Amino acid sequence: MKKIYLSPPEIRPEDYIAMQAVMDSGWIAPVGPELDGFEKALADRIGRSNACAVNSGTSALHLALLALGVEPGDTILCPSLTFAGCAFPILYCGATPVFIDSEKETWNMDPAHLEVAISESIDAGKVPKAVIVVHIYGQCAKMDLISAICKQYGIPLIEDVAEALGASFHGKPAGSFGDLAFFSFNGNKIITTSGGGMLLSDKAELVEKARYLAHQAREPALHYEHKVVGYNYRMSNVLAALGRSQLNDLDRRIRCREKHYQKYIETLGSLDGVSFMPIYDSGEPNYWLTCLTIDPKLARKNRDLIIKLCEEESIEIRPTWKPLHLQPVFKSAHYVGKDVAEDLYTNGLCLPSGSNLSDISRDRVITVLGDALN
Ligand SMILES: *Cc1c(COP(=O)(O)O)cnc(C)c1O
Repeated sequence: MKKIYLSPPEIRPEDYIAMQAVMDSGWIAPVGPELDGFEKALADRIGRSNACAVNSGTSALHLALLALGVEPGDTILCPSLTFAGCAFPILYCGATPVFIDSEKETWNMDPAHLEVAISESIDAGKVPKAVIVVHIYGQCAKMDLISAICKQYGIPLIEDVAEALGASFHGKPAGSFGDLAFFSFNGNKIITTSGGGMLLSDKAELVEKARYLAHQAREPALHYEHKVVGYNYRMSNVLAALGRSQLNDLDRRIRCREKHYQKYIETLGSLDGVSFMPIYDSGEPNYWLTCLTIDPKLARKNRDLIIKLCEEESIEIRPTWKPLHLQPVFKSAHYVGKDVAEDLYTNGLCLPSGSNLSDISRDRVITVLGDALN
């Protein structure tokens, strides 16, 4: 039985052509026309004026924090229900994360808890240095409320768009809200460069600072002069060619993932104890992963048993992200909220959602899940 993966990379004939052309061009370096072209293409798509392509989403976030001047001892607010790559860079800077609970309508950072966390931090004598907002599983957070809160307190906002390229909120693209926004092109994301990321902003000075640090903090001197600590974070021109080619195909990919979501809901949505991640009416997701929660009392089976039954049928189903405030590495971090994120994790599942998942394979997932839940 062929294994069905959660979100494998999709490589199409035009990607091979783009890769052949870039290899022939001789630009086998972290500089070149494909890199410039990829940066411009993504910035144009999101409606931003400056971009810096790097080797991962995690390094893009690290650069975003450094560009904002984050220093040891600073406080950074971040949702708890997300991937650790969204919080590790806080520790790289020696700063302190405060994790925030989710709300139920989008599963993203709860604006009410965000406001409490900001007030608590200010009362303790520390205005947070930045807020990181994540658009989890391809659905935008409540950006109207979250942007307004950050503006009110004058706190810079960083958008983590790693999972949500192509999504929008009130018709505005994900990645067009924060002072800075970053993307990931890891192999499991909606488009891929095998590994890669990008930082976008309308503020040229922030992106220029990030570009300088990402390129080993090289001063413009032939002998390589360095005044501060630099990083080797740039993306290769070779991989940028793949990214550019993949970006051209983004809209079709979103439609494929949405089709899987619709089919899953249609066939499994009315089973006892099954609730799909709600779609908030102010946003349009990119349907990166179809997620659901299982009420073990009504479904009479828990999340882990369902995962095991699917694994026996060579289907990769994963739990939702384990909240960061429950992760051993962050055990001393402060957490603001209740148990929404924890419940979404305890009972949450992500279903195979790739843009190259065939209808036949998807229907096999539906059969196996339907049997497991009956
Ligand atoms: C994938 C991901 C990242 C990290 O991106 P990498 O390119 O893998 O470093 C950050 N945040 C979220 C929410 C992600 O899903």
